[in-house]
Amino acid sequence: MDGTEISSGSAGEEGFTIFLKSVGCRTNQEELLTLKAQLQLTGCEFTDEITEADIIIVNTCAVTSHTESKTRRMLHSLAVKAPGARILVTGCLAQQQPQSLAALPSVHWVVGNTFKQIIPRLLAQKPDGGIFHACFDEYNPENTFEISAQDLLSPEKNFRTRFSVKIQEGCNFHCSYCIVPSLRGPARSWRCDSVVDLCRAAIEKGYKEIVLTGTHIGQFHDDNNGFLQLLRDVISINGDYRVRLSSLDPRDLTVELLELIGSHPRLCDHLHVSMQHFDREILAMMGRGDTDCLETIALLKQFRKKFPCAGLGVDIIVGFPGETENHFRYLLDMVSEMGFSYAHVFRFSSRPGTAAESLPDKIADNVKNERSERVRDIIASSRKEFLHRCSRISHRIIVESEEPVRGLTTNYLHVLVDTGRARHNSWLDVKINGSENGRYCPAIPVY
Ligand code: SF4
Repeated sequence: MDGTEISSGSAGEEGFTIFLKSVGCRTNQEELLTLKAQLQLTGCEFTDEITEADIIIVNTCAVTSHTESKTRRMLHSLAVKAPGARILVTGCLAQQQPQSLAALPSVHWVVGNTFKQIIPRLLAQKPDGGIFHACFDEYNPENTFEISAQDLLSPEKNFRTRFSVKIQEGCNFHCSYCIVPSLRGPARSWRCDSVVDLCRAAIEKGYKEIVLTGTHIGQFHDDNNGFLQLLRDVISINGDYRVRLSSLDPRDLTVELLELIGSHPRLCDHLHVSMQHFDREILAMMGRGDTDCLETIALLKQFRKKFPCAGLGVDIIVGFPGETENHFRYLLDMVSEMGFSYAHVFRFSSRPGTAAESLPDKIADNVKNERSERVRDIIASSRKEFLHRCSRISHRIIVESEEPVRGLTTNYLHVLVDTGRARHNSWLDVKINGSENGRYCPAIPVY
C-alpha cells in the first residue's frame, strides 16, 4: 500500500499504553524517542512494564544475520510475555522482510522505513493491522519523524540529558557488504535552519548535550550547506550545552573538521570513525576503494598526537572474504599505531542481497573469532594507556543519574562518581583514577 488512504487525522483517540523497544543503531533509538514524543501529544501513555502494554512498538535492525535472529527471538519472547498486546514492527528488518514478519504471531502491523512517519495515524486508522511498505525506488518519503520545537519534552519529563537530532537519512554509497542503502534509501537531509532551530529549542528546554545522528551524517547537505557549515551553525547557538557527533565515515574527515572536534569548547572531543579496514585491497573489495587510507591514517595519527585525551573510536570488520593473514596483520599494525580508546569489532557476516554475499574465499568462523580477539587485545592495551592519560586531567560530565551518580565525559568515558551530592541533568567536574569496572570508570568530584 502507498499510505495515500491514511487521512491526516491524529491518533490516540483511545490513548493506548505503549511499550517501546529499539534494536540496532543510535538512529533507531532516536527515532523511537521522537515517535514517543509525537504519540504522547496524542494522549498515548508509555510503560516499561510489558504486561501493561496494549501495543508494543519494535524498531528493528537488519545490518547483520546476528541482529536479525536476535530480533526474531525477541519478537517471539515479547509475544509470549504479553499475549494480549498487538505488536507493531518497523525499522530495517520490516523494510527488508515485511511478509515473513507479518506471519509471526502477535505481529499486527508491519511498517517499513518508507512509512515510519505515519505510525501515529496508523495506530488510530488501521486498528486491524496490515503491511505498510514500499521500496525506496517506488516511493521517496519525506524525512521520517520531523519533530517540531514545541513538541519537545523537557529533560526531566523525558528522563534524558542528551537530545538526539537526526540530521539526515539514507546513504548514496554502496559498500559491498551493506544493505543499509536499500533499507534506508538514498541520502536526504533536513534543512540546516530546521536542524539549528530544533537544537536551539532543545537547549532552551534544558538539554545539555545535543547528539547529531543519521545514517551517514557526513553526507548531510541541504541546498546551500554541507556538514561542516551545519556544525558551525549549531555550535554558534547561545546556551550552556555541548554537541556530540555520531560516527563519521573516513571519506568525510578533513583537517578542519578534526581540529573542530578536538578543540572547540562546545564540541565533545569524541571522534568515532566507521573505518572497517585499513588495507587498500580489502577496502576495494568492500566497495570502499575510494577511501584514501594513507590520508586517513595520517589524519587520525595527527588527531591522536594533538589531542591525546580525545575519545577515538573505530568500527572494524574482520574476516571479510579474501582477507589473508597479511591483510589482517596490516590491519593490526594500523590499529596499534592509532591509539584508539575503544572499538566496535564486527565479524563479517554476509547479508542476502549484497554484492559481498557472492564473493569467494569466505573466512572460517573460528578464524574470524580468533582475529576479532586479536583486535580486541590491542584495543584493550591502547585503552589502558588512554585511561592513564585521562587520569591526569579533569573531565566534565552531565549527571545522568543521582543514585548512584553516573555520567558521560566529553571524550566518551562512562563514569561512576563517588559522591552523593549531584542533581540530574547538572554539570559536574570529575577526576577518574585510570581504572575501569565493567562499563564504568570510578571517579571523584572536583570542586
Ligand atoms: S557508507 Fe557504506 S557501510 Fe555506511 S551506510 Fe553507506 S553503504 Fe552502508
